[in-house]
Order: sequence, then C-alpha cells, then structure tokens
Amino acid sequence: MTERAFPRHDHYIAGSWRAPNRGDYVESVNPTTGRAWYYAARGDAVDADAAVRAAHAAFRDPAWRDVTQTRRGALLRRLAELIAEHGEDLARTETLDNGKLLTEMRAQLASLPEYFHYYAGLADKIHGETIPGSHRDILNYTLREPLGVVVAITPWNSPLLLTATKLAPALASGNTVVVKPSEHTSASLLRLAPLFAEAGFPPGVVNVVTGHGNEAGRALVEHPLVAKVSFTGSTETGSAIAGDCGRRFVGTTLELGGKSPNIVFADADIDNASVGIVAGIFAAAGQTCVAGSRVFAQRPVYDEIVAQVRARAQAIRLGDPLDPTTQLGPLATAAQRGRVEKYVALGVAEGARVVTGGGRASVDGLDGFFFEPTVFVDADNGMRVCQEEIFGPVVAIMPFDTEDEVLALANDTSFGLAAGVWTRDLARAHRVASRLVAGTVWVNTYRSTSPMSPRSGFKNSGMGIEQGTHAIGEYTRLKSVWINTGEGPADDPFVLRS
Ligand code: NAD
Repeated sequence: MTERAFPRHDHYIAGSWRAPNRGDYVESVNPTTGRAWYYAARGDAVDADAAVRAAHAAFRDPAWRDVTQTRRGALLRRLAELIAEHGEDLARTETLDNGKLLTEMRAQLASLPEYFHYYAGLADKIHGETIPGSHRDILNYTLREPLGVVVAITPWNSPLLLTATKLAPALASGNTVVVKPSEHTSASLLRLAPLFAEAGFPPGVVNVVTGHGNEAGRALVEHPLVAKVSFTGSTETGSAIAGDCGRRFVGTTLELGGKSPNIVFADADIDNASVGIVAGIFAAAGQTCVAGSRVFAQRPVYDEIVAQVRARAQAIRLGDPLDPTTQLGPLATAAQRGRVEKYVALGVAEGARVVTGGGRASVDGLDGFFFEPTVFVDADNGMRVCQEEIFGPVVAIMPFDTEDEVLALANDTSFGLAAGVWTRDLARAHRVASRLVAGTVWVNTYRSTSPMSPRSGFKNSGMGIEQGTHAIGEYTRLKSVWINTGEGPADDPFVLRS
C-alpha cells in the first residue's frame, strides 16, 4: 500500500458510505514520516444521529432481530475468516496509521479472528435459567436479552484489537453497534467495514462514524437511543463518559489508563525479568495501557536490573516500523511526543535521574515522532512521573527491601490495570498476586492476553469486564419471568407473594 492509496474516507452507515454532514474531513498523519496520508470524515451530531438511527432500526428489524443465535455465530465465524484473509493489509494499514511495529500489528491481526471465533462459539450458549424458588404453582425463569444500540469508542494504540473486544461479544449477544475509532487511526476499521456486509450482517448492524472525540464521540454518547457505551481510552475521557451515561442510567464498560508496577524479587531469573521489563515498557514505545512503567527491584538485584535494562534499552533498534528488524517505532502523534518530553523534563525537575535516553531520537531519512527509550533512577513513587500515565517509552526503576513494602508501593497508585511479578518462589507468586490491586497480574511473563481471559481495570483503570465469557454480561440484560401454573385466584391479593 502506498501513502496515497485512499485519500478520503466517509462514514459507514446502514451498509453504505455516507459523506459527512458538513463536508469536513480530519487529516490523519503517518507518524513515521510526519506527513498526512488520508482524510477521514469529521462526524458531527447529524452524522452520529444517522448512525444511531440506522443501528436502532436494524436492532428492531426482523432481518437481525429474528436471526437465530446459531446463525449469529455463523456470521461471526465468516467475519473471522474474512479478517484472516485481509490480515496483512489491515496490519500494514495500522502500522502506517499509528507507527507501531508491523511485526506487532501482524501478531495482533493474526489473533483478531480468534476473538470472533471465540464469541461465535458463545453465541448459541447465551440463555437464561430456570429458578427453583419456594413457590408452588409458579414457574420462574430468566431471559438474557440484548441491550439495543451499543456505541463502541476506541483509542489509537491497538485500533482493531480493541474494537474486536467490544464488537464480537456485542454482536454475539444480538446488539447493533456504532463504532467510533480514534481520529488518529480510523483507516483499518474503514477498510474492515465492507467485510461486515460481505460476512452477511444486515445493513445497520455495524456502523462506523469517524471524527473527533468531543464532536462525533460526544454526540454518540449523548444520543437518547443508545443503550450502552463501551469505551477504551484515557481515564479523563472515561470519567466524563461515565458521568454523562450515569445521569441517564445508560450502562458503560470502561477500559482506561494505568501505571502498572513490575516487581522483581531477588530470587528471580534476572535475565528473564529484565527482558520482561523491556517488554513491559518499550514494546509499542510504551503506548500500551498495561505498560509496566514503574519497576520495583529488590535491593540485592537493584543495580543489576538497572544495568541490564539500561544496556537493553541502549541496544534497541529504532527505525521504520514497517522494517521487520525495527524494535522501536515512533510515537503515534506529535502531541504524544510533546507529552512524553514534558514528563521527562518534569521527572528531572522532581529529582529523578535519566540513565539512558531522555530526548527525541533521529532516524535517518524519517521525520517521524521518534523518542529514545528512557530509564529513570533515583525516583520516588510519589513523584508525578510515577503516578501519572505517560504513555511513552519511559520507565522509573526503584529499589525496595521487603514484600510488604513493595506491595504498599505497588498499590499506591490511583490506577489498577495490571502488574508484573518476577520470582522463583511459588508461594510468594500466589501471595503477591492475590494482594496486588490490579485487574491482571502476570508472573514471570508480561503482556500475555487471550480472548478467553477476562480483562478489567480496578480503581481509576475502569469498570466492567472485557474478553472471556463474562463480557457477554456487559452486552445483555436479565429479565425475570413468573408464570402462574396453578388454577384459581391468589389466596390473599393484599399480601406479597413471597
Ligand atoms: P482518549 O481518551 O483521548 O480517546 C479515546 C477515544 O475517545 C477516541 O476515539 C476519542 O476520539 C474519543 N473521545 C475523546 N473525547 C471524547 C468525548 N468527550 N466523548 C466521547 N468520545 C471521546 O485516549 P487515547 O489518547 O486515544 O488513548 C490512550 C489512552 O487509552 C491511554 O490512557 C491508555 O491507557 C488507554 N487505553 C486503555 C486500554 C485498556 O484496555 N484499559 C487499552 C488501550 C488504551
């Protein structure tokens, strides 16, 4: 694909492309070159309304409403196959859009069909239950029903993967969906959109509205016909969305930011641990919600961990993310690089010391938003660089002495998304995993994920569950049905039948 492959893209509504109401388009910049490479429709309230109405009509249309659950699964399976066929093109598109390594995006796209296959398998296992109860002559059962129109809003760091975690369970449950991708990375979803029709989903079941968060995104969230908002992004935006939806009793699933601890005990395999630290913070240039941005190393191995991480950081190959030998690409936007620079300066002002990195990186022939892998020492967990999400390749390494001390430090954060533990002591691994306040704990590994495993954020890292069987609960509601199987009227109509 060249950078001139598709200069303009419209919204995808009710199975057709639709030009934006005001005729405006948002420029998307390739972060590796610093140059615009396509334009996506700039959605407003009129576009959002059209998409939600299309999804609402599709939800009530027998063409979708009466589709059997078995057939829903078949549609998801077909979509999975189509995604697999287009995987390479979609992976390259994502790399051009957000600057993440092609090797990483290929791996994400290779796993994407699994998400649709997994929920395809669940589609015909969504059902209510018969409740025994204590009543004679009463049959009580539950119906598990879809909610209606689901709005899915996603960030720029893993566009299609984070769409799949919402779309697959929402569709398996029988909802209709409007997706609003990040204004920085709409391309891959727009390329995917025609595959919904090709897979056999009726028009309006999946719609895509592009544009800015505070225009298109906000208009979708505020739309009165929306039954649910599933959001992945920053804690600040998630809080605003939760506030607005809460006032209207609209449900939300929120996957937000993090400041995850990566804890190395002295008994750990130090080579494994230092590779795990690099994976936690320098993979994807630190632009992952689960970035292990606070490393705690037990005193006897602290110097060795600092030395190893520093050496590994200095050996990282920066370059064009399309080159399979590159290990660190650019940051996704110029603004993101500015934010990382600001935080590095702040860390220095707070008294932390940079032992490697700390500034913009130059890569021959490329004008992209590159930043050096950066390691802080002499940091304190109370510093802003250790409390606020930087979303870049910046890690602080801090020493600790005891297990109790490190648990207190690790949990001393407003976030609770993920944590890493490196130890050979089995009992300690289980003990620490249970005491860490985080939705995901990895022991002697980092950044493992699977559609089968639930993912959730504690504290300011989110609400609700994505992935795994529990995600179905996020996109369905339970109705309790009571049938009188007896004959004749109630014994006493003025008394509760409990
Ligand atoms: P962001 O919050 O700025 O934007 C996310 C999405 O929300 C975008 O599509 C944006 O257009 C939209 N948006 C912005 N304001 C809105 C509003 N008022 N109403 C409705 N929609 C609005 O986040 P970002 O910078 O794109 O992504 C980075 C953040 O995402 C980081 O904080 C990261 O930790 C988080 N993230 C979390 C997870 C997770 O699973 N927990 C995964 C990836 C990223």
